[in-house]
Amino acid sequence: MTATAPTPRVALVTGTSSGIGEAVVRHFCEQGHQVLAVDFNPAGQEVAERAGAAFFQADLTDGEACKAAVQEALKRFGHLDILVNNAGIQHVSPIEDFPEDQWRRIIDLMLTAPFLLTQAAWPSMREGGWGRIVNVASVHAQVASPGKAAYISAKHGMIGLTKTAALEGGSQGITANAICPAYVKTPLVDNQIADQAKLHGMEEQEVIEQVMLKNAAIKRLIDPSEVASLVGYLASEAAGAVTGASWNIDLGWTAQ
Ligand code: NAD
Repeated sequence: MTATAPTPRVALVTGTSSGIGEAVVRHFCEQGHQVLAVDFNPAGQEVAERAGAAFFQADLTDGEACKAAVQEALKRFGHLDILVNNAGIQHVSPIEDFPEDQWRRIIDLMLTAPFLLTQAAWPSMREGGWGRIVNVASVHAQVASPGKAAYISAKHGMIGLTKTAALEGGSQGITANAICPAYVKTPLVDNQIADQAKLHGMEEQEVIEQVMLKNAAIKRLIDPSEVASLVGYLASEAAGAVTGASWNIDLGWTAQ
């Protein structure tokens, strides 16, 4: 059997200046896709160019910026086939002390922006009769942990958005899936280790072993490239029958 080259597609990926988003952009560029990488951090420009992608700077907590990002993809490439909602932030504090502005920022970025980007991308996918929406959720879309009320609420909401998009897209050639990683070795996790150490009164190494990997059957952090491979599959031709699903890549966390 000979492997066939993937059909080149146009993809918009958010949250691309580091971590999972950077790995997804690299993976898509290697597949021959045309990619618009979207991030509020100007460092994303160099990261995108190194991979062979175009870059658009946008703070996705702003609804108009979400719409502008999709418009930029359409202007540059003529249409849009793949949307990966990946940008995310974290704030760790108990509900009692959780700052309202952090709650709103997290919901805006991690739930409202994926909705607005999906809405803006939809007509082009519908007209092309082909679309792939991949939402980077989290194991925290399936289970909760203390101190992460906004993040966990946003990620649980993202599963609802994914399922609804899957039902609406079924007759239009558009699939929507969520992926649910456990801890991935990225700057987002590096920053959390110190916060969690404070929250639990632990040393940082203890946080990795006793908090982050406590429920994992495989005792290691995940590499961003492993997550990018799963995103790549869900965005491919081969995944045409797969929709409305939540894909765990969680080291066995939720197997118990
Ligand atoms: P990361 O910090 O490396 O990447 C997040 C990206 O989002 C960065 O490029 C950042 O600049 C961008 N971003 C932040 N605020 C933005 C804004 N307002 N507008 C536009 N871009 C913005 O983190 P990561 O771990 O690669 O996280 C990527 C996604 O994966 C997030 O949604 C996160 O919740 C999810 N996730 C991460 C892990 C993990 O363990 N790292 C586990 C499960 C899910």
